Amino acid sequence: MKLKIHGAAGEVTGSNYMIETGKYKVLVDCGFHQGQDEEKHEGEAFPFDPTSIDALLLTHAHIDHSGRIPLLVKEGFKGKIFCTFATSELVEILWRDSARLMGEEAEWRTRKNSRKGLPPVKPLYTENEVEDSLGLLSPIPYDEVIEITEGLKVRFREAGHILGSSIIETWVSENNGDKAVKIVFSGDLGPHDGVIEKPPTLIEEADFVLIESTYGDRLHKSLNDTRTEFEDALKEALKTSSKVLVPTFVVDRAQRVLYELDRFQKKYPDLSMPKIYLDSPMGVKVTEIYCKYIPHLSRELKEMFLKGDDPFEPENFQFIRSADESRAINEEKSGIILAGSGMCSGGRIMHHLKHNLYKPDTHVFFVGYQAYGTLGRRLVDGAKEIRIAGEDVSVKARFHTLNGFSAHADRNDLLNWASNFPKKTRFVVVHGEPKSAKSLAMGLNDKGYAAMVPALNDTIDLLAPAEEKPVRMPVISQQIIDRLELSPQDISQLLASITNKADEMQRLAIESKDYAKIMPLLVSAKTLLETAAALGEEDRKTA
Ligand SMILES: [Zn+2]
Ligand SMILES: [Zn+2]
Repeated sequence: MKLKIHGAAGEVTGSNYMIETGKYKVLVDCGFHQGQDEEKHEGEAFPFDPTSIDALLLTHAHIDHSGRIPLLVKEGFKGKIFCTFATSELVEILWRDSARLMGEEAEWRTRKNSRKGLPPVKPLYTENEVEDSLGLLSPIPYDEVIEITEGLKVRFREAGHILGSSIIETWVSENNGDKAVKIVFSGDLGPHDGVIEKPPTLIEEADFVLIESTYGDRLHKSLNDTRTEFEDALKEALKTSSKVLVPTFVVDRAQRVLYELDRFQKKYPDLSMPKIYLDSPMGVKVTEIYCKYIPHLSRELKEMFLKGDDPFEPENFQFIRSADESRAINEEKSGIILAGSGMCSGGRIMHHLKHNLYKPDTHVFFVGYQAYGTLGRRLVDGAKEIRIAGEDVSVKARFHTLNGFSAHADRNDLLNWASNFPKKTRFVVVHGEPKSAKSLAMGLNDKGYAAMVPALNDTIDLLAPAEEKPVRMPVISQQIIDRLELSPQDISQLLASITNKADEMQRLAIESKDYAKIMPLLVSAKTLLETAAALGEEDRKTA
């Protein structure tokens, strides 16, 4: 019985894992590589035969987890695709969008090629394969144990990341009745203080956990600070009566911004607000799906819906579907316009940028990550002139970068979620840049867990016995060792003096500026003591 890592190894995108026994092969996620990972993997074939796969488990709709499923189907996969009901609806929208974008790109490249006498370019998949993939979707409810095939049971749990997102628990064995190995796939985990979704489910049992590490080495701003920052920026923008442009991802982030605008209006009823638009046919559909699954949303939002107040519809708000309606916004003097794409790499935000970036009283709110190489990133980095649809546009607008709206857990959230597992659990750290993945693995080690960062296409033997706990031995200089008198009495005397010191420190009110210096030393001391205690315990057991 094996677990194979076919994607998101030392990278954020391209999630793709395989559970393989003598009886079956089941994939978990099958996503696209995006951003800087894309080029690295361009033209890469699946490292397995798609016709040999029996089923697929999908954690959530995001394209870096689901994007290559229609390609898998094109290459012969015929099994069922298990996911939550909300995911089955969102993924349809995202697949159709990705087929359309690839179709447009292929057409453009074909025109370019034909002028050079080169062959036409075909998209990776089309609407046809999307249709075939939709036919394989097999939605299942949260929290129910379901048998996928003989020897494999699964249960989908709330992951708190986007609507429908799930952590997947799997119980893997060769035959029914054999003792199963339990693998938990974290999928993408939401923050503990998420606003739109419920917090991620805490799970207390596993042999192996594949844990994401997008923010494995970083902490987010607090919810309060994020909201204050948003409110301050908006108040400043409202001083002018011009346009406020919000390039945004239309799944989850757009709904979050609409909700924050609704809160703002309620908090500052006397401030006059211009009309708010969600200018995206896809965004409109996604918002409708969010409203259909109210029981899956956070308590805060459920309570609003119960009172008949739609959190995604602030006052003076309009959904924009047609291109004519979208163009008509150009004639308006003011307005808050939410539109895709989130990184300004296409979509309707482009024509709003073109018509407004040159005006000094335009405000642009960046509410999501801007990847290197995108127009959004160039704007954030201070480009003075850009080219949109063949036209040079000088950049005079004001920019606000709001980094707090993440749908991902940060380092503390990840470590806290992981701490619910017993110490025998082995962690496989995926879905993160090498730096974040390693940092999270070390954090897990410090908590006494075995954790590894796999390489692409690594195979993990699910039946191999656990290696010894990675107790990190501190390096103690020989000088210190020479000074110590080594007897049991000395140990207890030393411990007493450490306890005294700790008490004394607790009594001292430590100034906040000293805190930064003292804290790392205390953390090291704690680690050293834990290591010593672990060695002591081992000694006692063998004695
Ligand atoms: Zn995601
Ligand atoms: Zn992801």
